[in-house]
Amino acid sequence: MDKASAKKAKEELEAYLSKGVRRKTGERFAVLDAVYSFSGMFTAFDLQQKLEKQNYFISRATVYNCLKLFISLRLVTRHKLEGEASYEPTIGRKNHCEQICTVCGKKKELRLKSLPALRNNVPLERFQAETYNVTVYGICSSCKAMETRRRRTELRRQKKEEKLNELKRLSTSITKTNNKKQQ
Ligand SMILES: [Zn+2]
Repeated sequence: MDKASAKKAKEELEAYLSKGVRRKTGERFAVLDAVYSFSGMFTAFDLQQKLEKQNYFISRATVYNCLKLFISLRLVTRHKLEGEASYEPTIGRKNHCEQICTVCGKKKELRLKSLPALRNNVPLERFQAETYNVTVYGICSSCKAMETRRRRTELRRQKKEEKLNELKRLSTSITKTNNKKQQ
């Protein structure tokens, strides 16, 4: 995430912690720093690894506690898609558009400035939209090419088989006719 967003997040955490509800620990700021070093989604494991690289050995439970606090302060967004939860810095978050190939699973992040068509057509229910996360599922060009090749080979084999069957049928009927003639 950009520096300005990271700074703003830090200020918000500082403002919250200075109310004295929770202790102002260096740990929380270290975790927040690590969170805002990601430009997109990350898992709790990614976050812990990043912290370890910076020589912060923080338990998974603490990492989760920090994330929970950041989510409540709207500094972190939680995504629960399939299986493991992913997180993302909230401040400075841009619209996301991602394409995923349903065959090989290849993902590609696309940058979107605005989503005017979508914005006007999504029937939101008592909800204020801030950012959008769009996932487009489909098939990538290499998987599509592979599929086309496979289909072609199948078609060729099918035609060959049909021809062979036709020939067999013909030869059987010729043999039958010949047999009849001989009788
Ligand atoms: Zn693919």
